[in-house]
Amino acid sequence: MDNTAEKTSPPLSYARLAAQSPWTTYLAQVDRVTPYLKNLARWVETLKHPKRAMIVDVPIEMDDGSVRHFEGFRVQHNLSRGPGKGGLRFHPQVTLEETMALAAWMTIKTAAMDLPFGGAKGGVRVDPFALSPTELEKLTRRYTSEISIIIGPQKDIPAPDVNTNAQVMAWMMDTYSMQVGFTASGVVTGKPLHLGGSLGRVKATGRGVFVTGRTAASRIGLDLNGARVAVQGFGNVGSSAAELFAVHGAKVVAIQDQWGTLIDEGGIDVRSLSQNMHPEKGIGGSHANNHAFWETPCDILILAALESQMTPARARITTAKLVLEGANGPTLPEADDILADRNILVVPDVICNAGGVTVSYFEWVQDFSSFFWSEDEINARLDTLMVESLRKIWACADHYKISLRTATYVIACGRILDARQVRGLYP
Ligand code: GLU
Repeated sequence: MDNTAEKTSPPLSYARLAAQSPWTTYLAQVDRVTPYLKNLARWVETLKHPKRAMIVDVPIEMDDGSVRHFEGFRVQHNLSRGPGKGGLRFHPQVTLEETMALAAWMTIKTAAMDLPFGGAKGGVRVDPFALSPTELEKLTRRYTSEISIIIGPQKDIPAPDVNTNAQVMAWMMDTYSMQVGFTASGVVTGKPLHLGGSLGRVKATGRGVFVTGRTAASRIGLDLNGARVAVQGFGNVGSSAAELFAVHGAKVVAIQDQWGTLIDEGGIDVRSLSQNMHPEKGIGGSHANNHAFWETPCDILILAALESQMTPARARITTAKLVLEGANGPTLPEADDILADRNILVVPDVICNAGGVTVSYFEWVQDFSSFFWSEDEINARLDTLMVESLRKIWACADHYKISLRTATYVIACGRILDARQVRGLYP
């Protein structure tokens, strides 16, 4: 009975951290902030230990009748300031360490924006493009059912991330709701509109990248009109941010995705590219240009792909004056130092891409009150919150003469550890 044989994905070691795993990057970022935490520094170990991590087996029956097992994770890094919040990604390289780092960055991000959430993240190690829609639905539902004991509107609220979308959120919301016996729309955000989703959520992360980028550009005297933009990653975040920069007069000169690179110094028509893109073949660029992407003359570089993309070697050759981290954890700590030495300003992920989780917060609030806001209202509130958060971070950076990243951590870790301290150790 070949077609029902169980296939098990190869086991992965969780014990050893790679020298530059995202979790190592995160720990280095926490070490940099510790000297500025004053009396709260005694609680800093809290940030180095995820509160809870769940590893689940996700078996599904494939279309050919075979049974395959996938490995899934949900990590709740910190819940001191509220329920866990953070996306779910489907990717062939997802690991526990990566999910820990992504959950930790959500803790920092929600605190930096002063949202009443902690930080969490989920992932399933799978190539979603190799699954049929039915298999993808089964995977999502079984994963949701496995983690349902730790998620909930007041406990931990997943959302879209790499390779997940509103349809995946709808399956998650339905699976959870069927288990608890009522429609629990607040259990996930990034849902379709008619299921309690929010206007503006799909483009919110890219919008936040643009809004923080525009603020940073004006602080360093960089005119957006005619500014050359290079974008790594042309998924939801990269494409929405690139479109907004183009609408405001910038010229998108290079785009790279996982399938290849497009370079056109005359400017790429991003709107038509994103409308005509093949979902499984990306922008249709060439591999030959992959290295040239990093050397293409540009003023603004948007990193909107995955972690650890800005390496020391790339930090040495980029011509950008401003780097915007649309992805989570795209810059290695050594690369951060090189960029700082070269006077290249980095708007860090934990504020730059916080637009997504901010509109997720708006969605969660709207679901609770069953009262929905207009898109203009959402965008206006998002812009105000992001600009105001960045202003406070900039004031902190100026005060201590530190990078925007370390300043964001000073503010965020102060809020998290203050909550930790006043709540106290119990039981
Ligand atoms: N996945 C997004 C992020 O990394 C959004 C998370 C959310 O909305 O909870 O920030």
